[in-house]
Amino acid sequence: MSDHCIFCRIVGGTIPATLVASNTHGIAFRDQHPQAPSHLVVIPRRHVASLADASDGAELGALLLLAAEVARSEGLSETGYRVVANTGDDAGQTVHHLHLHVLGGRVMHWPPG
Ligand code: AMP
Ligand code: ZN
Repeated sequence: MSDHCIFCRIVGGTIPATLVASNTHGIAFRDQHPQAPSHLVVIPRRHVASLADASDGAELGALLLLAAEVARSEGLSETGYRVVANTGDDAGQTVHHLHLHVLGGRVMHWPPG
């Protein structure tokens, strides 16, 4: 847990967020700058800087299951959705606490920009 990390502060409750789901390993909340009609962020409760720093398979599995759960609760399972983990500078990672974006509610394009 880091006082300087925005997402750690959301986990700790000192920065507000619109929580939509949680499990023992992670929490899911609405992105403050949504890039799709549904845009959720799924993060681990403990500080992990990025996917490149992840090593706990149970934790990663729980985060993916939480991503699928929030997609289901957003009504995205039938139409489809995208799960993205921006990792490092070239991918445009701006918050250095591992997170999965869950995006849906519109047609996604490929390749991504
Ligand atoms: P990334 O660019 O992959 O690091 O994504 C970070 C995401 O976190 C962006 O989509 C931001 O809009 C989102 N974000 C940053 N701060 C907050 C916050 N306090 N509440 C909700 N979403 C946030
Ligand atoms: Zn953190």
